[in-house]
Amino acid sequence: MPHSQRRIGVLGGTFDPIHHGHLAAASEVAAALDLDQVLLVPVHSQPFKLDRLAAAPEHRLAMCRLAVEGDDRLDVSDVDIARGGVTYTLDTLTDLHAQAPDAELFFITGSDALARLHEWKDAERLTSLARFIGVTRPGHSLPDLDMPHTLVEVPAMAVSSTDVRRRVRTGAPIRYLVPRAVADYIAKHDLYAGGMDD
Ligand code: NAP
Repeated sequence: MPHSQRRIGVLGGTFDPIHHGHLAAASEVAAALDLDQVLLVPVHSQPFKLDRLAAAPEHRLAMCRLAVEGDDRLDVSDVDIARGGVTYTLDTLTDLHAQAPDAELFFITGSDALARLHEWKDAERLTSLARFIGVTRPGHSLPDLDMPHTLVEVPAMAVSSTDVRRRVRTGAPIRYLVPRAVADYIAKHDLYAGGMDD
């Protein structure tokens, strides 16, 4: 039965860098929940990672844009990067809701990130703005969560941004872990080659 409201997935993450696991997660959740669109929303700064350097927001945003080229169901939103400062999901969802007031929002993120949802800013209000969807890597489970949520297992999620950064640093191949345009962008801008932590 067709849904009365447009259904938009909001895939929030640091995306440092975006990889095929994220794209597979977007695609799996879109199919499982019959979403019309999935927006990739790179954070400006993640509240639990303020002590860790990530690639510049502009680079992470550019790589997300390259990654969604050719897939009509995927798009990128710069609401968090344009707002700047620490990214709180409350602001992400409030801004996206203002842009599409008639849509139903589904906030999708890694289940390990979701496991700390109760610590997020205004956690109770968050669940009135969107449904929360956790994507798990194979073999990973989620500790008990008080907040309502849905879990979707994504086989291709075995790849991680940490592993991609480590590979770049050690000269190992990333060609089939990230979209080709993203691999080219990383090489062109010499990202992750230095001593960044992981
Ligand atoms: P993270 O701690 O880097 O991610 C935790 C795990 O989830 C990692 O294994 C990560 O894998 C995976 N992951 C993250 N985003 C994913 C995605 N969209 N799809 C699939 N796997 C994903 O978390 P983060 O990326 O910085 O933040 C996740 C989201 O939670 C962001 O939108 C952030 O704004 C939100 N958040 C909000 C608050 C708050 O409002 N207070 C606090 C924390 C997080 P990779 O490393 O491979 O990506």
